Amino acid sequence: MSDYSKPLIAHTNGYQLPQTEIWIDPTHPVHTAVVSHAHGDHAVPGHGKVYCTKNTARLLRTRYRNFADMVITPEFHEWFEVDGVSFQFIPAGHMLGSAQIVWKHEGRIINYTGDYKRQSDASCEPYVTVKCDVLITETTFAQQGKTHPADEDSLKAFDAALNTNYIVGAYALGKAQRLTRLFADLKPEFKVMVHPKISKYHRVYEEAGFDLGEWLPYQKQVFKKTANNIYIVPPLVLQSYASDIGYLRGMASGWDRLQEGYDIKLPVSDHSDWHDLLNTITESEAKVVYTIHGDSNELMQHLSNAAVHIEEL
Ligand SMILES: [Zn+2]
Repeated sequence: MSDYSKPLIAHTNGYQLPQTEIWIDPTHPVHTAVVSHAHGDHAVPGHGKVYCTKNTARLLRTRYRNFADMVITPEFHEWFEVDGVSFQFIPAGHMLGSAQIVWKHEGRIINYTGDYKRQSDASCEPYVTVKCDVLITETTFAQQGKTHPADEDSLKAFDAALNTNYIVGAYALGKAQRLTRLFADLKPEFKVMVHPKISKYHRVYEEAGFDLGEWLPYQKQVFKKTANNIYIVPPLVLQSYASDIGYLRGMASGWDRLQEGYDIKLPVSDHSDWHDLLNTITESEAKVVYTIHGDSNELMQHLSNAAVHIEEL
């Protein structure tokens, strides 16, 4: 492999290690898959053999009836072999079980970050920096200056209006659990209720040893008759709630456009912002960086004079 030959082949339905049948985060059924985390754009059912972390396997077993014929769950930081290639999972801080996928090729260390965040999140294993020769990083929020607010500022909308209720939209897996824990830590005056499509994942998090604080399955009568309740629902369910004097609505997202049309802002992201992307690239000490997911033009321009080779995968 020459210095700039790509360490992964980018297909429309996942990534493949060259000259192998090993796929990373394939979105179609394959014989051998290494899966970074349990979100649907990274993990689908129907594979022959899947390598993932124990907590990702827990979530995938809850999400899919038969997600693979065989599931192998190495510990974080443990080296394991897949068809002659040495791999390692390192925590990515994105959601429960999420991993950066590290492997060795011709004496070089390659790191595929998957989705990752470096902000603190008590609901999952914290991000760990990986030193590597080649970094493959997601660039979901690679817009110059894009900064995710601190937790206290993200939840500012809940400071002003006591004696009302809130309906909050959040992805059922990952975001909803992080929010539940954030509300427990920062807004204990509210009662948190959770939609049934979300509560099944809450239980997996708790079985895995992550305390989400106090929460209840949704109780319609309590929500209607009392104030200071926050009801967390999946995004599609939020859309079914029209504007009403009985509650305020908000969508938890790092994207401003996804929050439009609702009553409150709730900027909470599980991806890296601009500064965390730059820090990750610097701290990795990688000489070669490939970008995936999102528009990386600003990042490439910003690093054009840096001592790093950067291009899209
Ligand atoms: Zn994800």
